[in-house]
Amino acid sequence: MINVIRADILGYCMGVRRAVEMAENCLENNVKTQGSVFSFGPLIHNKTALKTLALKGLSVLDSENIDSLKHNDTVIIRAHGIPPKIRHKIETTGAKIVDATCPRVLSSQKRASNFAKKGFTIILAGDKNHGEVAGIAGCAESFGAKCIVVENVMDAKKIPQCNDKAILLSQTTISHKEYDDIARILQKRMEHFQVFDTICPATSERQKSLEKLAKKVEGIIVIGGKNSANTQRLFLASQKYCDDNAYECKISCHIETPDEIPENFFQLKSIGITAGASTPDNIIDEVEEILIGKSC
Ligand code: SF4
Repeated sequence: MINVIRADILGYCMGVRRAVEMAENCLENNVKTQGSVFSFGPLIHNKTALKTLALKGLSVLDSENIDSLKHNDTVIIRAHGIPPKIRHKIETTGAKIVDATCPRVLSSQKRASNFAKKGFTIILAGDKNHGEVAGIAGCAESFGAKCIVVENVMDAKKIPQCNDKAILLSQTTISHKEYDDIARILQKRMEHFQVFDTICPATSERQKSLEKLAKKVEGIIVIGGKNSANTQRLFLASQKYCDDNAYECKISCHIETPDEIPENFFQLKSIGITAGASTPDNIIDEVEEILIGKSC
């Protein structure tokens, strides 16, 4: 029988769990209003979870079809949040808004708005195409502030020396090392500059738990969407541990659904399981059950 060990911290982070629960409540209660329920953009980076929510009646709304909303429809704002301009556009249709913006993201949005009101330039470290970055930038811009998004050290180096009042905020999932490097460069270029640590511990907590796990098991299974950045990072870290003799683990794989477990994993004596912040509990449970069941 395979000894299956779960990472101490794995799967849904607080913000994603909250958003999924809010969506499920909405879908249950919506029967009375007869309207449709949408999430603005895909609610979660996991195909299986999205399919389950779609079967319960959740549709995806994008900025192009806001005008087609009806007054009895409901729009769920996902954990990443949205720019105030889009929120306002949804409000004008009369549709109900259920705001599942993660409290951590909300706090960055508020900080961006507060400093923007005081005339600060807002510099955001993160992915230009990410919904969370668009939401925070939108908050700053709604107060007429300049908002600059830097994706990496190279971008930071392109910002000219100036004496603007500026603050640096990060996308909640950026790595500490990357953020510190960006902050160091900007600190030399800006005279009135404040850096805020807005990185969410969810990613590093899952990484630390994985490292502990890699010391105890022969193989590691990373469960999560192929398009989930934090799951991909967990898999990359697991591969690094497999190449390092200081760790017990020798092989790792990244699967999205339980049927993807590679056959050779069933020959192992011990397997560690971890999962990205958007991996539903039921998929983690199923993987564990299959590993234990097939090896009995
Ligand atoms: S990763 Fe952190 S900030 Fe992002 S949704 Fe999860 S808890 Fe919120």
